Amino acid sequence: MTRPPHLTACHECDLLLREIDLSAEKGTVACPRCDAELYRVGRNSLERSLALTCAALVLLVIATTFPIVGLNIQGHEIETTVFGAARQLWRDDMPGVAVLLLATTVLIPLIELCALGWLLLPLHLGYRPAGFSRVFRALQLAHPWAMVEVFILGVLVSLVKLSHLADVLPGPAIWCFGALMLVLSVLSSIVDYRELWQTWEAAEA
Ligand SMILES: [Zn+2]
Repeated sequence: MTRPPHLTACHECDLLLREIDLSAEKGTVACPRCDAELYRVGRNSLERSLALTCAALVLLVIATTFPIVGLNIQGHEIETTVFGAARQLWRDDMPGVAVLLLATTVLIPLIELCALGWLLLPLHLGYRPAGFSRVFRALQLAHPWAMVEVFILGVLVSLVKLSHLADVLPGPAIWCFGALMLVLSVLSSIVDYRELWQTWEAAEA
């Protein structure tokens, strides 16, 4: 039985193209009809994604363990971490907000980064990770719910408003969350799911 030719549809104009051998190409592959970028090749995206995933995990650990912000009100200093903020929200009868804060800022980014590491590290070492398709699907489901940037925006608005009432001292965690936001943005732009599947096909079972 002959294998059907692999076809790729342009995401802009739906033109069907025969699959291009990415290993032979360098640079970007564009649609011949509308010139939309179909994919980039020759970027070592797997290694770079793995490095950024490790960096993001380190930043996430620091961001959740160190204080986000400190307040100095008439000589009385208070500071809080993201867990402290969630605990306070829970005590103030806002359990839904507390759960959302922890889920979108800590738990889901952690799941997303662990899932990425689970897929990328074995592939980098040349073998197939266990449960590849299930972890891949979990990664796609988790991605829209990681909202570190919304949290950063909320904290910045609160800091500006609080600065009229007290001396506001940004903690180390706020810088780490800022860096994490940038690393996650770069990571989501360079992770090449196509390359992941191709590496998976070429790897040892
Ligand atoms: Zn096109």
